[in-house]
Amino acid sequence: MTAQKILLLVLDGIADRPCDALDGKTPLQAAATPVLDRLAKESVCGIMDTIAPGIRPGSDTAHLSLLGYPPKRYYTGRGPLEAEGCGIKMEAGMIGFRGNFASLDSNGTIIDRRAGRISSTEPLCAAIRDGVDLSAFGVEFFFEPGAGHRAALAFRGEGLGASVTSNDPKHEQLPPLPIRPMTDAGSDLRTAEVANEFLRQSQEILFDHPLNKQRIAEGLLPANVVLIRGAGVMGRFEPFSEKWRMTGSVISAAALISGIGSAVGLEPVPVPGITGSADSDLKAKIAYTEKELERKDFVLLNIKGADEFGHDGKPLMKRDFIGVIDSALAPLLERNDIIIAVCSDHTTPCSVMDHAGDPVPIIIHGPGVRVDLVSLFDEISAATGGLGRIRGGDLMPILVDLINRSEKYGA
Ligand code: ZN
Ligand code: ZN
Repeated sequence: MTAQKILLLVLDGIADRPCDALDGKTPLQAAATPVLDRLAKESVCGIMDTIAPGIRPGSDTAHLSLLGYPPKRYYTGRGPLEAEGCGIKMEAGMIGFRGNFASLDSNGTIIDRRAGRISSTEPLCAAIRDGVDLSAFGVEFFFEPGAGHRAALAFRGEGLGASVTSNDPKHEQLPPLPIRPMTDAGSDLRTAEVANEFLRQSQEILFDHPLNKQRIAEGLLPANVVLIRGAGVMGRFEPFSEKWRMTGSVISAAALISGIGSAVGLEPVPVPGITGSADSDLKAKIAYTEKELERKDFVLLNIKGADEFGHDGKPLMKRDFIGVIDSALAPLLERNDIIIAVCSDHTTPCSVMDHAGDPVPIIIHGPGVRVDLVSLFDEISAATGGLGRIRGGDLMPILVDLINRSEKYGA
């Protein structure tokens, strides 16, 4: 039997280094992972440099690489991909920013960079969409809410650059900064002027907005200023369906990851109850993934949470959350009809509290796979497996070959 479909399961930042608090084990080694271990036992295993050895990947560049889009060629910054993930249809050449709502006091000083963790900003975003007018610049803008206090902004127009600074002073008790061009190019100056005008008009709208008046009356912080950063020009992506001759979907709570999927032509599938944190409804994610696999050839499923514990330097909590992920994956043990690749997008060592360049474990499970002798899913066991050490850019060709859709090279 040959599998027809592929599930790429990325356990965000799950890989780690040996932790003192875990007697020198990694959280993956220390966690109870019967499901992942059984998958590993029935898989070909290895380790993978998602970009290249020693390169510390961002989640964005790592996912591009895993999908077969070399980040050196395709990555133009986080803003445009996150804007795509917030539902803005980014065309090549458009300028994207990621952003969030914050709270200003009457003196124009930022008193909370997350606007009191406001949970829904759609009415504010709608007021900005209706009220801000950038036609004097010949620029069209798009502004959409993200999760919680987050949002995304995009500009479409001629002669716009993306080398501009952020208005976020990064600290509270300071006023927002003016956006400045970072080069002498007229295009960057123009974007800075457009962005400053957008921010000026949106702030006026937000200050008078009934939702903010109501929040203040209730003793909550108003969401009366927008902070934007991560400007980038949207690139041109060869469609996934042409590159790999497969249809596909992406399931992720992170706007950045669904944005990357959407940018290459995977359909983002919203799942109710997913948060991108440890309280996410992982079982719903698996159920939606299985449903997508009925109608698509390929699904990219990203599960966050473990990465956060790495960033927070919490090895025991990371270990325990890995156990939670593991039990949610149980339905996958029944799937002997598809190719399942399980990996991480980067290592997030608790000792570093950020991403590191160490390779990640990878297992490939399904019909036709040459099962090796590895029987545990962790960084050290996987290193002895039959895949050896591969790069992220090798993954899609290997998976496509396993469903016998790879083109012959030569006679
Ligand atoms: Zn990541
Ligand atoms: Zn991270």
